[in-house]
Amino acid sequence: MTGPVLERLGEVRLELGPARDAPREGHWRQAKPEDGIVWMALDKPDSGTNTISKAVLLELSEKLDQLEHNPPEALVLRSAKTGGFAAGADIDEFAGMESSELEEMLREGHCILDRLADLPCPTVAVVHGEALGAGFELALACDWRIAVEGAAFGFPEVQLGLHPGLGGTYRLTGLIDQVEAMQLMLTGKKAHTKKAARLGIADVVTEERHVAAAVRACADGEVEHRGGGLRGGLKSGALKFSRTRKLAARQMRSKTEKKAPQEHYPAPHALIDLWEEHGDDRSAMQEAELRSFARLVGTDTCQNLVRVFRLRRALKKRGEGDDGIAHVHVVGAGEMGAEIGAWAAIRGKTVTLSDLDLDALGKAVKTAEGVCEGAHLGAAETRDALDRMMPDPNSYGVRRADLVIEAVPEKADLKTKIYKGICKDMKPDAILATNTSSLLLARLSEAVEHKARFAGLHFFNPVSKMQLVEVVRTKATSDSTAQRLAAFCGAIERLPAPIRDYPGFLVNRALTPYLLEAMVLLDEGIDREVVDRAALRFGMPMGPVTLADQVGLDICLDVADGLKDELEKPVPDVPDWMRAMVEEGRTGKKAGRGFYDWSDGKPDPGKGDAGPEDLTDRLILPMLDACMECLRLDVAEDEDEVDGAMIFATGFAPFRGGPMHYARARGHAEVRDRLQELSERHGPRFTPDEGWSRNG
Ligand code: NAD
Repeated sequence: MTGPVLERLGEVRLELGPARDAPREGHWRQAKPEDGIVWMALDKPDSGTNTISKAVLLELSEKLDQLEHNPPEALVLRSAKTGGFAAGADIDEFAGMESSELEEMLREGHCILDRLADLPCPTVAVVHGEALGAGFELALACDWRIAVEGAAFGFPEVQLGLHPGLGGTYRLTGLIDQVEAMQLMLTGKKAHTKKAARLGIADVVTEERHVAAAVRACADGEVEHRGGGLRGGLKSGALKFSRTRKLAARQMRSKTEKKAPQEHYPAPHALIDLWEEHGDDRSAMQEAELRSFARLVGTDTCQNLVRVFRLRRALKKRGEGDDGIAHVHVVGAGEMGAEIGAWAAIRGKTVTLSDLDLDALGKAVKTAEGVCEGAHLGAAETRDALDRMMPDPNSYGVRRADLVIEAVPEKADLKTKIYKGICKDMKPDAILATNTSSLLLARLSEAVEHKARFAGLHFFNPVSKMQLVEVVRTKATSDSTAQRLAAFCGAIERLPAPIRDYPGFLVNRALTPYLLEAMVLLDEGIDREVVDRAALRFGMPMGPVTLADQVGLDICLDVADGLKDELEKPVPDVPDWMRAMVEEGRTGKKAGRGFYDWSDGKPDPGKGDAGPEDLTDRLILPMLDACMECLRLDVAEDEDEVDGAMIFATGFAPFRGGPMHYARARGHAEVRDRLQELSERHGPRFTPDEGWSRNG
């Protein structure tokens, strides 16, 4: 759900029937029925978001006691929160539970939702915003789902190493096309309003102001279930037979294995097993679902993915507060500047964008349209966002901006020249931030008059997909500047990681040895696919050779050269042939070719030989070592911040819980000894950081 949509909903008075004025009892608001209809509004205390906890369900159970005895004409469930229906189950409640205790709790939850589903009156879930996980399961237990424009439904459980556990597996497969249902659960993708209606998840799509009428229509039996052919279509009929399901399951397995190998991500595979075995027997599937869910919660993958969820929450918290930034001026409308501008405009900021090259400004508007589309904005929201982003070739915006973000090419002289030119024009409390990925801020800041209001705002590419932003401070950056920039990240829904000025900051410092070791391996004659597979085997989302191509070999070279000059520790030499590739223009994805040919899309290193384990350690351990160095030198604040930053900026194998978490699981002494061994065999670039011995 996007910021502007939320704002609009915020202005709208939610239709809660008589529950609007009812006092909150526990988690629900409920008043006497009006026109025979009972409205129950979920309204978790002290939170802007509803989650489905044991208490929410037990209180629902008490209400069901009365409703079963004295059924109304209809029952409506909706959320009293303007932000959305419900975000899912309360993870903190179940993540640490023993499997038998959890199974018992789930059984109780299933029983309550079954009673809701069996009520002798029509039950209607009205969904605005998102209904996710257990929130979606609550809506699925109702007879009708009314989606307010902008609503979305989804099961993100796979991202936590789980599958739905409160009846979702059999309720969704029982409601819509089974393969579509499985796709939603296997991928964790959301079905936005239109798709939800097409699939038959939402029976009615309406505007907030028509909700009461839509509820009445459901109560009066005037609404037909949507989905038509999909719901009871031939395909779903055929899937009732176990042989057809086996065939479909086989296809799902091979597709899933490519994206989420069973060894690292057991949950989607468990879901396929469930469906294959019990897809035609609802009660067997119910029993198997809750057992499987309780087992999965105990796996390392789930525990580590829950850790990732908490790391995200902690980073998000750092972005709370007021940024005092309404107007952002971006200097340099290239690959990064255009996306930064578009993203800030989508999130409600006024943006001006300057560039020496007028074509770049034209392209930036096109980029912004693409970013809006990718963010699922409707026509009106896209228009509003584009209205807020103004090409400004004469840089008039500098005088009015609360924040100026510089995103010109990675050349220190160019950047400092720009700072000298604009500092005098900026408002007295405005902040100047650079998006540099490798230049030391201390040096750049020499050209800045107001050093307390200068910092780094290091976005990752593509800005609209990569959640992390390193907020880099120099010794002179004021607390207020750092705090406002973190809050700016929060306001534009990015995750701020406060970092101290250091060569490569945290993320590029850690990533560079990984990328460069891959180049050394290629230099030793190992195939690019084998090198990539050695990293994939560990669980990295992309091998280092593919990643280098994707980042751009010219950019990798810039960063590597910069780090080599600045760091005390040795960094692998960049092979001459790589420099030659860059000179020839073979810079990777953007040029259509680098190490791989990208003309047919992303290369696939395929399955097969991934070399000896040694290879994986040679790639991964230097990255861990650089993280340890950053911790020892207080570049990052703590292990959680390092893990969160590496996961949200690089996709570091999430199921391992982050590089420092992995190092703890493997043992610091073991990591240190292994690095020592590698340094004796391959050179001093592997010499273990002294932090490994200190930081037991
Ligand atoms: P780019 O070459 O795509 O864009 C730079 C833009 O700046 C160009 O449109 C250019 O015309 C414009 N420009 C040059 N001189 C200017 C001037 N004096 N005034 C105004 N505009 C000027 O570069 P990019 O990839 O967007 O990188 C920009 C910055 O972001 C660099 O510091 C880079 O290190 C950093 N960065 C890049 C990436 C990435 O993956 N591309 C990721 C993170 C950070």
